[in-house]
Amino acid sequence: MKTKMLMLVLVVMSITNITAQQLPKANVVLAVNTRDIKIFTLVAPPEMFSNTTHVIELPNELIVVDGQFFAPYAQQVKALTDSLKKPITRFYISHDHPDHYLGFGDAFPDAPVYALRETKEKIEKEGKSTLEQRQKQFGTIIANSLNIPTHIQEPGEQTIEGVKFIFEKSLHNEDEVSLVIKVPAVNAYIAQDIVYNKTHLFISGDTGGWKKALKKIESEKHYSIILPGHGNPGNRSIIAEDLKYLDFVDKTLANTTTKDEYKAKLLAAYPQYGGIHLIDIYLAYYLKKDWINK
Ligand SMILES: [Zn+2]
Repeated sequence: MKTKMLMLVLVVMSITNITAQQLPKANVVLAVNTRDIKIFTLVAPPEMFSNTTHVIELPNELIVVDGQFFAPYAQQVKALTDSLKKPITRFYISHDHPDHYLGFGDAFPDAPVYALRETKEKIEKEGKSTLEQRQKQFGTIIANSLNIPTHIQEPGEQTIEGVKFIFEKSLHNEDEVSLVIKVPAVNAYIAQDIVYNKTHLFISGDTGGWKKALKKIESEKHYSIILPGHGNPGNRSIIAEDLKYLDFVDKTLANTTTKDEYKAKLLAAYPQYGGIHLIDIYLAYYLKKDWINK
């Protein structure tokens, strides 16, 4: 228990000592660039979990997917959407993990927020207390207010400005319920946290369902541009990399007895990966196992 608390305090201290002005900036990548559809992806820095926000630019409007964890990155998204000079008609939240919905309340207080029914209900129930708790933990880089989902997105197909969007509900992957958005005209697959790119995957339990969700994406060969919830947009190779990572996690969990040993093996196998704090957080709070010295 002592180690658990110490680990958490260290993680939090290293982040709370940063003020908004000192934060490293997010990167913006143009993932899709056609005449009628562009997708800009803003990626938070690796030490700040590499959270993504995707801005889909259609001829007359913008559709945004996910709202960041830390408020300064949502402000950077706001600078991007302002520069495009088109209204945001839908702001999607892909799933109910706070690193995707806590950040944008101050930057986008009036955007119409869409989510799956389950995600909307969970955020209605837990959003406020989660925000307060993270404000205590991380200080001023957490937003002051929330913009919680008010619109339910049903799974199915919709045409928006002549562009077909496919909305799907994916179950038991990195979260219990998550929204996948596909844009077949530009071969784009917005997978959010089913896919991580060069970022440590957030492990909170059995990985079987997550692997199944990745294999489903692997079978949908039409889609060549994969947009992850953490890390840069990539090609299809990142799906295989994630499957391999999850296999490595399973093997390492079976062969280690302490959290330190487990973490050290992951860092040695994936030295170039960002999001190292994610390992500390899930080991402290989420991933249960009979660790020695816990
Ligand atoms: Zn996430």
